Amino acid sequence: MNPIFSALETSVFEVMSQLARETGAINLGQGFPDDPGPEDVRARAAEAVMTGWNQYPPMMGLPELRQAVAAHYRRWQGLELDADREIMVTSGATEAIAGALMALLAPGDEVVLFEPMYDAYVPLVRRAGGIPKFVTLKPPHFGLTEEALAQAFSPKTRVVLFNNPLNPTATIFSEADLDLLADFCVRFDAVAICDEVWEHVVFDGRRHVPVLSRPQMRERTVKISSAGKIFSLTGWKVGFVMAAPPLMRVLAKAHQYITFTTPPNLQAAVAYGLGKDDGYFEGMRAGFQRSRDRFAKGLEDLGYAVLPSAGTYFLNVDIAPLGEADDVAFCRRLVMEKGVAAIPVSAFYAQGAVKTVVRFCFAKRDETLDGALERLDPRHPVR
Ligand code: GLN
Repeated sequence: MNPIFSALETSVFEVMSQLARETGAINLGQGFPDDPGPEDVRARAAEAVMTGWNQYPPMMGLPELRQAVAAHYRRWQGLELDADREIMVTSGATEAIAGALMALLAPGDEVVLFEPMYDAYVPLVRRAGGIPKFVTLKPPHFGLTEEALAQAFSPKTRVVLFNNPLNPTATIFSEADLDLLADFCVRFDAVAICDEVWEHVVFDGRRHVPVLSRPQMRERTVKISSAGKIFSLTGWKVGFVMAAPPLMRVLAKAHQYITFTTPPNLQAAVAYGLGKDDGYFEGMRAGFQRSRDRFAKGLEDLGYAVLPSAGTYFLNVDIAPLGEADDVAFCRRLVMEKGVAAIPVSAFYAQGAVKTVVRFCFAKRDETLDGALERLDPRHPVR
């Protein structure tokens, strides 16, 4: 068996969701909203199954979806993308990331990763033959430094795998950080694979800045996003990849032998959804921001040290002030004794740099959040 995958544990998301199911805990671990997602978008998908084409769609994605993606990013991020040559539809962002790594890496190439990072990154990099080089980001700001980048980059650097807004920290890199990163990519002739799935889930009036828009990055960036986070439909797994034609031609070769295509009805519904008016996107953000504020205030009132959340479905709590030194043990107690599932952020650090941060998903109904807060009250009896 392949040593990389056979040595892996089950993903922390599955472990915590399974524990939550077994114990009847409130699940604030794995990130998915309580709400069923926009009804009109779901209705389009249902309608397309009954009246539309259900055989293989084109390998690059339905033309109507690729055009909708181009129009969407022109409208929201000022990007000019050629729907025929620079956009491809994948079965979720994770497929896009896996395919991009397979397409761009040769054995022994180095890949710069920023920890804490999404748990799929390291095994996918290794399986594609890449050698991970880590930049460690530390709470509370999780920002980049030139020294840290200088240590991670080398003449062997082929790819940088960058997530912004960053899950699990709920932080957004500053424009100065993006410029610093771009500078290193240009200097070391590296391609940036940018996982920007949280680009629309940003708060307090923020606007997402794509790496692709930075000077000199147009030809060396693979931008990845996903309908799951844009429409709160995390199970749909409709992703999009955007890159200049020389990169895209190779990315398409990987995609054609991984999934080849993505269910056409979901593609049609996403094409419709991307054209929704600004009110939908503003409303989605406002709703999650309200939930963030409600949950953060509740936690603070209970004495928890809440770290700022600028985007994503998550906020983090620093458990060091509680005298805790091990987030895994803390989360295990939380789910078993208090009935609330959360995610230990140490699971996203490859080298054990940080062990006292716990991630909660607040993309839930008020009743769910209030129920969790009641259980998180230190005075609440242990079950
Ligand atoms: N993106 C989700 C999260 O961060 C998890 C997805 C998964 O379970 N693989 O919670």
